[in-house]
Amino acid sequence: MSRVAYVDGQYLPHRLAAVHIEDRGHQFGDGVYEVLTVFGEQLVDEQPHLVRLARSLVELRMRAPMSESALKIVMREVIRRNRVRNGILYLQISRGVAPREHAFPKSAKPVLVVTSQPRRPADPQIAEAGIAVITIPDIRWRRCDIKSIALLPNVLGKQLAREAGAFEAWQVDPEGCVTEGTSTNAWIVTADRSVVTRQADSAILNGITRLAVLEIMAREGYRFVERPFTVAEAKTASEAFLTSTTVDLLPVVSIDGAPVGDGTPGPLTRRLCERYLTHVAEAA
Ligand code: PLP
Repeated sequence: MSRVAYVDGQYLPHRLAAVHIEDRGHQFGDGVYEVLTVFGEQLVDEQPHLVRLARSLVELRMRAPMSESALKIVMREVIRRNRVRNGILYLQISRGVAPREHAFPKSAKPVLVVTSQPRRPADPQIAEAGIAVITIPDIRWRRCDIKSIALLPNVLGKQLAREAGAFEAWQVDPEGCVTEGTSTNAWIVTADRSVVTRQADSAILNGITRLAVLEIMAREGYRFVERPFTVAEAKTASEAFLTSTTVDLLPVVSIDGAPVGDGTPGPLTRRLCERYLTHVAEAA
C-alpha cells in the first residue's frame, strides 16, 4: 500500500510530497512539530499534544495553519489514508515560504505537513535488558521547552550515543545536572525509592509521556519529586529510565559504562512501564 502525506492543503503520494526550497523550516529550522502515538487507529493523549503545539506556536510568534478542529480532521484523515493501526503521527508547521531573510516575512502563511506510519513493534529484548546512556554537555539554546524542528545539537548528541554503543545521550548543564536526553526525558529512582525528574523549566521539553507518568505516579501514590539531579547522583541511583512518545518508558541500566543499581531494570521502573502501557491503551 502506498503512503500518503498531507502537505500544505493536499494529500499527496509520499514519494511526491515536498516543501518549497524557500520554506523557512527548510532554510532556518523556523518551525515546530509534534509526534503522537497512534494506538488502535486512535491518537493517544491528543489534547496535551495540541496544547503543547499551541504553546510552541505562541512562543515562536507563529500563526496556526488552521483551527484545532480542522487539524484534528487532517490528522485522522492521514491515519486513515495510511491505514495505520499502531504507529506514530508526525506533524510539522513552518512559518511559511518566503524569500530568505532572517526577520519574519510580512506575508507568509504557515505550512503544515502531516505523515503517519506504523511503528515497528518495540524489540521486547530492549525493554527486558534495559539500555545504556552516555552523558554529554548540553550545548542547546535556552528555550528547550519549545518543540522546535531545529534539532542539530540533539542530532549530534544521538550520533555520539550511537558511536559509543549507547541508546541515548543524557545532556548535562553547566552545573553538572542532567537536563534530558536528545529525544527523551530522563528519570532516576533514589535509594529511598523516590522518583526524580527535572522540573519542566526552559532547559527541557515537557514531554507528554513525562506528564502521563507524573500523573500515574500522583494517582497511585508513588513518591516523586521534580528537581535537578547531577550525573553523580544518577550514577549512584538505584534505578533509572527514560520516556518519550516513540519509545514509551525504557529502563536505563548503565550510564557512561557504569551499571545503574545491579545493572538490570529495576522493579519500580518495570511497574511504571506496565502502567504507562496501560495508559496508552486507555488514552487512545
Ligand atoms: N525531550 C526531547 C528533547 C524530545 O525531543 C522529546 C520527544 O521528542 C522528549 C523529551 C519526549 O517528549 P514526548 O514524551 O512528548 O515524546
